[in-house]
Amino acid sequence: MEISNKNRIVVEEEDKETEMIEKLMKAGKIHAEIMEEAVNLIKPDAKLYDVAEYVENKTRELGGEVAFPCNISINDIAAHYTPIYGDEKVFSENDVVKLDVGVHVDGYIADGAITIDLSNSYKDLKKASEDALYTVIKEIIPPMNIGKMGEIIQEVIESYGYKPISNLSGHVMEQYVLHSGISIPNVKEKSKDYIDVGDIVAIEPFATDGFGRVFDGNEKHIFKYIKSRPLRLPSARKILKIIEKKYPHLPFAERWLANEDPKYRAGLRNLMSSGCIYGYPTLIEKNHGMVSQTEHTVLITENGAKITTKK
Ligand code: MN
Ligand code: MN
Repeated sequence: MEISNKNRIVVEEEDKETEMIEKLMKAGKIHAEIMEEAVNLIKPDAKLYDVAEYVENKTRELGGEVAFPCNISINDIAAHYTPIYGDEKVFSENDVVKLDVGVHVDGYIADGAITIDLSNSYKDLKKASEDALYTVIKEIIPPMNIGKMGEIIQEVIESYGYKPISNLSGHVMEQYVLHSGISIPNVKEKSKDYIDVGDIVAIEPFATDGFGRVFDGNEKHIFKYIKSRPLRLPSARKILKIIEKKYPHLPFAERWLANEDPKYRAGLRNLMSSGCIYGYPTLIEKNHGMVSQTEHTVLITENGAKITTKK
């Protein structure tokens, strides 16, 4: 039978979409496997550095790529801590740990996080963010208003007696793009934005017994490339070349550059002040409250939201 040109284009587009979904689901499966194993490594006296290195090496071993540095944020730090080169920090028996991991396959990203409560005193805080996530996922019917999603998250977290963190949000993703521009709030909001069939969405409720907002800490260990510029400092020039080659799209860690140049830290500082790279500050709860986070990536289909970050 003849296939007309028009039909051929439709078939090609369908093939492309199937391929994209296969890559997205593969990234999610790798993510789920890593999380399952990494949980067992998070225990008192274990080094944060070893967990981060394990997660990132395992990602590549399983056939994925690292979408962003492994985030290990403890207690009142909500997000964006990643171990630095030579980091000696260890977990303590009182820690509430957020492990946030990003895996990609050809740019299709699986972004997900869990809370590990080593203290055993924050079971409900952990449950509040989990319940908020699974409730909103169940209630997604496309097209869905993002303000409504925030409302559901807020209601569930508040029903536990905690607060959602209002200035942290989920995000719609595209190939090699972590934040496409649409955010998923963790509180009720008036918004004209909707998520719809075909969207890849990271949903990440944060719950706290603190104020319900984060502020920027002083530490920056995760960066992203912004633009090139002529630079005088040799270490900055050298580091920038490496960044442009290896990390043009997605965030990278200070740790990943440690072996590239003896003066890489001065280079990074120079690149930040020159506007060539952006440094993500650690995000700390305003009243230094405890923070829990649960995150999944979902693909929006006609039938609702399909979780990609599970086995
Ligand atoms: Mn995440
Ligand atoms: Mn995310």
